[in-house]
Amino acid sequence: MALQKEELFLKNKNIKPTAMRLLVLQYLFSCEEAVSLNQVEEALPNADKSTIFRSLKTFEEFGVVHSIREATLTKYALCKTCTAEVHTDKHPHFHCNKCDSTICLSHILLPQIQLPEHFKLQEQEYLIHGICDKCNAIA
Ligand SMILES: [Zn+2]
Ligand SMILES: [Zn+2]
Ligand SMILES: [Zn+2]
Repeated sequence: MALQKEELFLKNKNIKPTAMRLLVLQYLFSCEEAVSLNQVEEALPNADKSTIFRSLKTFEEFGVVHSIREATLTKYALCKTCTAEVHTDKHPHFHCNKCDSTICLSHILLPQIQLPEHFKLQEQEYLIHGICDKCNAIA
């Protein structure tokens, strides 16, 4: 069956490979960029939106995807080296104002920010808005 790669991937992350999770993961593997819940829903028209959402939340919990919160939208991108214990993908993201795609800048480190005394960092997100390489090539 065609979903063997996905099944193995989920088992390695200790996630039970349900049919829905396999389909969502298969779609994520086919995406080059971060996708929103709506995009996953459009790609899987027979699936229930709340089931897709639950799959994405499970993936996030077990280090399969990380989420990028944009102003009114959350997108999800596949993790590269994360585990259920810790997300290691602390990289900036780039949002293209023209084509609306969101790209992982995996090779760029987040800037170290010196917080004032008695402030404790819990999460650091870095989202850059601009024009992506593809849109720049057209212009
Ligand atoms: Zn991650
Ligand atoms: Zn673009
Ligand atoms: Zn990312």
